[in-house]
Amino acid sequence: MIPLSIPHLDGNEWEYVKDCIDTGWVSSAGAYVTRFENMVAEFAGCKYGVACVNGTSGLHLTMHMHDVKQGDHLIVPNITFIASANAASYTFADPIFVDVDPNTWQMDLDLLESFLENNTEEKFEVVNGEKVKRFFFKATGKPVKAIMPVHVLGNMCDMERLVQIADRFQLLVVEDASESLGSYFKGKHSGGFGKMGVFSFNGNKIITTGGGGVIVTDDEGLAKRAKHLSTQAKANPDTYFHDEIGFNYRLVNVLAAIGVAQMEQLPDFIKRKKKIDAFYREALGGIGDIKFQEVREEVDPNCWLFTFATSRQAEVLEKLKENQIIARPFWVPMNQLPMFKNNHYVTEHDYSKGVHADSMSIPSSVNLSDAQLEKVTEVIKGCY
Ligand SMILES: *Cc1c(COP(=O)(O)O)cnc(C)c1O
Repeated sequence: MIPLSIPHLDGNEWEYVKDCIDTGWVSSAGAYVTRFENMVAEFAGCKYGVACVNGTSGLHLTMHMHDVKQGDHLIVPNITFIASANAASYTFADPIFVDVDPNTWQMDLDLLESFLENNTEEKFEVVNGEKVKRFFFKATGKPVKAIMPVHVLGNMCDMERLVQIADRFQLLVVEDASESLGSYFKGKHSGGFGKMGVFSFNGNKIITTGGGGVIVTDDEGLAKRAKHLSTQAKANPDTYFHDEIGFNYRLVNVLAAIGVAQMEQLPDFIKRKKKIDAFYREALGGIGDIKFQEVREEVDPNCWLFTFATSRQAEVLEKLKENQIIARPFWVPMNQLPMFKNNHYVTEHDYSKGVHADSMSIPSSVNLSDAQLEKVTEVIKGCY
């Protein structure tokens, strides 16, 4: 069997986990948590990192902290992993989905801008006695408060333009950078463009802690508040005094220990992912109607999970399965899921539908052998 994207635990993971067990520091306190937070923040070029149980909880915290509440709108790309839309929905906000660029599979910024220009109106809201300018969706009369760009498959849209649009329309930017540790736009690491960014360390990501996430930000106040909220909003560590409703979202030391060992290997993992990407592009380029995800010139992607498009998606998936090679169709677009089918979907051509129908991800683990890569491409080529 050739798996899709599995962990590679070949560094100091065992030593660091053993250290946790030998010293008894297995739970919520411990030096590895802080070390891991600092390593991730530093790698991403941000000042602070706050570790969480997973990426989804990190995204939820960022929304909760920014007063995104019931009925408020929040913009999310229509092609994403469900966690982005779920995290937004935990605040009872009402996500608006924006169709994607058919080539890069990232949020279409032309559509985003024309939606905000034509479908929202500027009004003032009084928040804590202060007048705040906001843009309200005309159809619902509710404010559009935030935008969550998702760096799909480690690729990125024009983040400078996205931030400019967000500033113009007073939108908070929180990046779902779950898949993009090691991806850069014009030399700046993903996660650092918005107020906050969130990385995931689920088992299939470029590095893993089994399950985990880190929120990054340059804002000390936000980092402190995220930490506070993720640890039950405990105001005094010696007494049971909590000053608001908090969450139990902190990452434990044993998992952070794995994360520290994984971070040490990240540069090598990125190199290997890029080699895998180059191999597939070379071997599959020009075969049938195979089309690759387009990457803008300004983007240096981490090449997390190789995904391509073909009208023969179903047939290729079947052939790979017969050969015990794990492959997956791309996510079902948010507008096609039962819980979001009535949400507003900003689109002209519904490119999401085609991206979903044609695209598929193939084995991309860092520990894939060259022989396995050959095997995968031979099976795919055999379908044409
Ligand atoms: C993996 C992922 C997440 C977060 O997943 P967790 O399993 O909660 O860490 C969020 N968004 C996207 C796009 C992802 O791929």
